[in-house]
This record gives sequence, structure tokens and C-alpha cells, in this order.
Amino acid sequence: MICAICGREGRGFCWLSPRNGSRAPDGKRLFKRFCSMRCQDIHLQRLKAGGGVVIDPTHNEKAAMEAVLPSLGEYVASIGMDRSLAAYSREEILHMVDVVLTAYFDNLRELTPDDVPF
Ligand SMILES: [Zn+2]
Repeated sequence: MICAICGREGRGFCWLSPRNGSRAPDGKRLFKRFCSMRCQDIHLQRLKAGGGVVIDPTHNEKAAMEAVLPSLGEYVASIGMDRSLAAYSREEILHMVDVVLTAYFDNLRELTPDDVPF
């Protein structure tokens, strides 16, 4: 199961909705898996901010998205500004995805406070 926050492979960090909390359409309690304590904490912060409902990206997530732009621009410039995205090879696209995800989560981890809930 993949991480509910970043989409990486889940690694044993989980969240289960409270007995009297939100339920899936089939009536079961909601279950989320995370890759790290950081992503689990991000989920908990979203729940607290939204009154128990996961909502739009947080301020830090929006800032992390913005912080990706220099890395993305640098990568696109290294490929060649004259090439369209349709001309990229599969490997170039995958590398670009890696550049974006790495920059996003590196920035998000820097912006997110270290106050772990337990
Ligand atoms: Zn994650």
C-alpha cells in the first residue's frame, strides 16, 4: 500500500479513523498507510487543521510546491529549452518526476515542524 501523503511505498506507519469517526462508503473505518513518521504527522496536521477532514494543501505544502520550481527549471534547462515535453524520452520524464518529487518532499520536510504527536 502506498503512502497516503507522498505516494511512496508505505512502511508500517498507519492511521485508523476513530470508532465514532469517519467511515468509508462500505461502512469500514478509514485506514491510511504512510512511508514515514513525517508523512503520518503531515496527515495528522491536516486532520487537525480541517476539523477531522483532509482538505486542501497546507501553507507548507503550497510553499514546497513553489520551492520545486528552481530544481524543475534547472532540469528542463539541462534537457534543452527548445525541446517540447512531447519530445522527452521516457527516462527523461521519469528523471523529471524524480527531480520534482525529491525537491517537493525535501522542502516539505524542511518546512514541517518536528513536533511528533507521540
Ligand atoms: Zn510518505
